[in-house]
Amino acid sequence: MIDPFGRAITYLRVSVTDRCDLRCVYCMAEDMSFLPKRDLLTLEELDRLCSAFIRLGTTKIRITGGEPLVRRDVVRLFGALGQRLGNGLNELTLTTNGTQLTKHAQQLVAAGVRRINVSLDTLDPARFTQITRWGKIEPILDGIFAARDAGLAIKINAVAMKGVNEAEFDTMLGWCGEHGFDLCLIETMPMGDINGDRTDQYLPLSIVRARLRKNWTLEDTDYRTGGPARYFNVKETGQRIGFITPMTHNFCESCNRVRLTCTGTLYMCLGQEDSADFRPLLRAGVTDDQLDEAIHAAIARKPKGHDFIIDRRHDKPAVSRHMSVTGG
Ligand code: SAM
Ligand code: SF4
Repeated sequence: MIDPFGRAITYLRVSVTDRCDLRCVYCMAEDMSFLPKRDLLTLEELDRLCSAFIRLGTTKIRITGGEPLVRRDVVRLFGALGQRLGNGLNELTLTTNGTQLTKHAQQLVAAGVRRINVSLDTLDPARFTQITRWGKIEPILDGIFAARDAGLAIKINAVAMKGVNEAEFDTMLGWCGEHGFDLCLIETMPMGDINGDRTDQYLPLSIVRARLRKNWTLEDTDYRTGGPARYFNVKETGQRIGFITPMTHNFCESCNRVRLTCTGTLYMCLGQEDSADFRPLLRAGVTDDQLDEAIHAAIARKPKGHDFIIDRRHDKPAVSRHMSVTGG
């Protein structure tokens, strides 16, 4: 699958649910309304769509959400997709908030998952509850260590927020180093209405990186995970730190990904509204050839890039859907 700008589309992110057991302030409003269950693709439909993407050249699939591990029986989907590893698919991975990891870590490994991203914006228990509106940090830390003990490589993802967790990154980098985790910092993106003002939270990572350099030696590396993060080796810990800067740096040129929602809508760009809806096709009983053709037609519409600009005057997000719809 080559898009109109010559980019090979090899990476599919799949949001398996829009629901979540937390309500991170930058991601969701407290009183989010979620989709009725009948609108969601079944796990079999998700598997069929993913299989079509693998057939057409997708080599990496990341399962995300909402919180993917709150979807009932999601482990079955991991099992089904895991069968395709080494047979078109090179990597099956997961982004999770960690609340259910203690329960699922072993099954994920059994399905063939080797690396996961866990979102954790702070190590401070009170601040964690404040950011997630009601979460408790302890089960998440237990989950992270259960995942590590089960053999999963872990990257901690933290959204950098001005005046919230900005004084913690030295501590977090040290903690990640101590436990063998990579750390990736993310700028807040203006997606979905959250009942709040994002311009207050936005913290450019160029500032964070300059501050970190006072205490840590960040060495350039060409390490890439096929994502938009720019990585550095942290000399003192032997681990890596990545920076995802959609707001200050254009990360679109090497974009290799598309995003499928739990209702079967494919977004060709995180920062644009255009989409292709596969649910009616699946439910009308299309053949594999027709499905492949529809996927090709969608990829042919992949735009050159996003233009995230916080609409300050109207105080509206640049993209109206929440990150939990497309999974980030
Ligand atoms: N629930 C899972 C989790 O939190 O890891 C997976 C889905 S979550 C939407 C995926 C990632 O998107 C998380 O790392 C989260 O911090 C990030 N995210 C959510 N809303 C964001 C926003 N407005 N700007 C930047 N990152 C955001
Ligand atoms: Fe849930 Fe993840 Fe969004 Fe937090 S970032 S509310 S854990 S989907």
